Amino acid sequence: MAIDFATLKQLAEQSAAVTQSCSCNDAHLLAWQLMPPTLELELDQFKETGSLVEDPYDEPTFKEYHPAGTQLQSDDAPIAPRYYPANRSQLLRCVKCGRHYLRYTEGGGYFTEVRLRALRPPLLVDASL
Ligand SMILES: [Zn+2]
Repeated sequence: MAIDFATLKQLAEQSAAVTQSCSCNDAHLLAWQLMPPTLELELDQFKETGSLVEDPYDEPTFKEYHPAGTQLQSDDAPIAPRYYPANRSQLLRCVKCGRHYLRYTEGGGYFTEVRLRALRPPLLVDASL
């Protein structure tokens, strides 16, 4: 079952309140990015704490949410849990500092790429499809 929006918002606000320096924060994961090599070595650094996938038996939409003209790779692109790629993301918590991130796997078949993005409260939008 997917994490509800209120919980997600709360976790985002908790993350934003963390001031401790940490390698995850140094990676500046404002937009969706490939898992940086500095963190790839430390996969144990992240613990999966939930999922944004509403129904594992249903293929989530590839529609994106960009009312302000942002793009998938924009730093300020909204995080709308029902839209791609948030709708196929897992929620990760950094065990060192407690900040939260979204992770999804791009591709399939010939290649897969793990992408990460910081969960930032001002970007969260509870938009319906
Ligand atoms: Zn961290």
